[in-house]
Amino acid sequence: MNRFIIAVTLGLMAANTAYADVTEEDLLNDTASVDDVLTNGMGRHLQRYSPMDILNKENVQNLVPAWAFSLGGEKQRGQETQPIVHDGIMYITGSYSRLYAIDVKTGQELWQYDARLPEGILPCCDVVNRGAAIYGENVYFGTLDARIVALNAKTGDVVWNKKIADYKAGYSYTAAPLIVNGLIITGNSGGEFGIVGEVQARDAETGDLVWTRPVIEGHMGTLDGEESTMTGTLNATWPGDMWKTGGGATWLGGSYDADTDTLVFGTGNPAPWNSWLRSAGNPEGTEGDNLYAASRLGIDPATGEIKWHFQTTPREGWDYDGVNEVVAYEDRDGNKRFATADRNGFFYVLNREDGAFVSAVPFVKDISWAEGIDENGRPIFVEANRPGDPATAADGKKGEVVFASPSFLGGKNWMPMAHSPKTGLFYVPSNEWGMDIWNEPITYKKGAAYLGSGFTIKPNYEDHIGSLKAIDPDTGEIKWEVKNPSPLWGGVMTTAGGLVFTGTPEGKFIAFDDETGEELWSFQTGSGVIGQPITWEQDGEQYLTVISGWGGAVPLWGGEVAKQVSYLNQGGTLWTFRLPEQLASK
Ligand code: CA
Ligand code: CA
Repeated sequence: MNRFIIAVTLGLMAANTAYADVTEEDLLNDTASVDDVLTNGMGRHLQRYSPMDILNKENVQNLVPAWAFSLGGEKQRGQETQPIVHDGIMYITGSYSRLYAIDVKTGQELWQYDARLPEGILPCCDVVNRGAAIYGENVYFGTLDARIVALNAKTGDVVWNKKIADYKAGYSYTAAPLIVNGLIITGNSGGEFGIVGEVQARDAETGDLVWTRPVIEGHMGTLDGEESTMTGTLNATWPGDMWKTGGGATWLGGSYDADTDTLVFGTGNPAPWNSWLRSAGNPEGTEGDNLYAASRLGIDPATGEIKWHFQTTPREGWDYDGVNEVVAYEDRDGNKRFATADRNGFFYVLNREDGAFVSAVPFVKDISWAEGIDENGRPIFVEANRPGDPATAADGKKGEVVFASPSFLGGKNWMPMAHSPKTGLFYVPSNEWGMDIWNEPITYKKGAAYLGSGFTIKPNYEDHIGSLKAIDPDTGEIKWEVKNPSPLWGGVMTTAGGLVFTGTPEGKFIAFDDETGEELWSFQTGSGVIGQPITWEQDGEQYLTVISGWGGAVPLWGGEVAKQVSYLNQGGTLWTFRLPEQLASK
């Protein structure tokens, strides 16, 4: 009894001590400061690398659970969050736009915020959320009705709640927000509804808009409440009025390269999927490139002006969204580089100064839509693998069906890769699958799917779809590969201890040797792991956390693959592991 009272008193004392506000400096130093995890990506470069080596190849077999936390209720579905750890509190987001604050030592809930979602939200690909952001006194996250909410990090009280876009038009929000120089920067989701991709920057304290940057040519940006500049050149690469509902959702959020002071956001598919409606009868020329969809954009964080662009899939017609994360790193010669593993199956290296193309190699087998990438970074199309034009079909309703690989869910989807400055390698969660795809006529209708395509996803191999690959960005060589029966859908993390962590839909959370891919440790979490692991130090011990909870796009859109994995159980449990001090040297 006495012990209980003392514990409660100590708890109250802890709660009364001043909360340490998170500063720009803290965010800048997030990778090096191992006692907290303040940013999505464990550093805004998104390397997902920890310099910690308390836990290493020799002792990882001694890693044990410390606590687990259930997200509860019938609201399970896909859990894709990356936790944030600050000042003794862990912040996670859950499916259906929920945010939890948890005592990092005990796993006990401190408070929970459930967004009140309206009827009629239109999330395309499960009710997921990929994590929160933290700055000042607040914690931030986006909601499925396309809003961004600031909560007091200590109490969970709402500080402000702002609308990003109209959910009735198909907009939603699932990414972790990005914070740079006191601005909270968000993208948007909804590329399957003919929305227009945009990046917005708000004052993190007040939620007031500072700038907006639509990513499809012809649309006007704003700065301080006034029109700034037009994105691109009207009708340069889009025919007629198609740009007005041109897609390019910025749905995975962005990264920040502090060295060049540049935000980098990827953009999704141009809308509709049927590329013939966007090519103005000129498939060979740049007229149908549909900028800046399926691209990466370098953006000035102060003004929202586009500094550079790199389009991975011009005239995109397979739903190869260009949103996958862009990771800033240095190659072995010390050159400042970006790397990104695109949905289209190619792994690109770009120059960090200007986004210029450096190199590209396939990171999955059997790419059918392009023979390769030319010296300018432009794909060498296989025209016969472009889904046919329904306008030229006998019935005018269904164009020629092609088998295209990768499938539209990508050689890699949203799940983030990791980079180790120690090995120089990227650890890429990839999938090897294809699809039958065909085009159909379509006209835009607000709030309705705007595809003009049909599809069925199929596995390419009997023994695997998922493949974790270690890629050398300097040579393009695949150093090792670990295959997995079902598609990989979870994030990857790597550490100075020589470990690579990721999870599988079959439920395993696994540590691999960073040089060989050998499995060194695993733990069955009870449901599919599609979340993003983190690690940090607490009281001299190394901790790891990952969320388990199967869902996401595969069960909804995976066609024949979805049937293969229909036996997988849903869940919703946050697992925290630690290496006890007495086992660290064993
Ligand atoms: Ca940190
Ligand atoms: Ca898409």
